[in-house]
Amino acid sequence: MSRPAPDSAPAWALPQLAVACPTCGATPGHLCTSHGGTRPRLYDTHQTRTTTWAAQRKGGTA
Ligand SMILES: [Zn+2]
Repeated sequence: MSRPAPDSAPAWALPQLAVACPTCGATPGHLCTSHGGTRPRLYDTHQTRTTTWAAQRKGGTA
């Protein structure tokens, strides 16, 4: 089983990386992390981050 390196993780393509994550505290431009920040989430982000991004994108009151 091979795992992509954090540098080439599929999650980098996700648009919600443009906002901070309310769940794990990842700052804009960084991957979400799990397990107390020790492990980057290579394939997705927290649901709350997606929601936050979608809300801002809609032009809501950010
Ligand atoms: Zn997160």
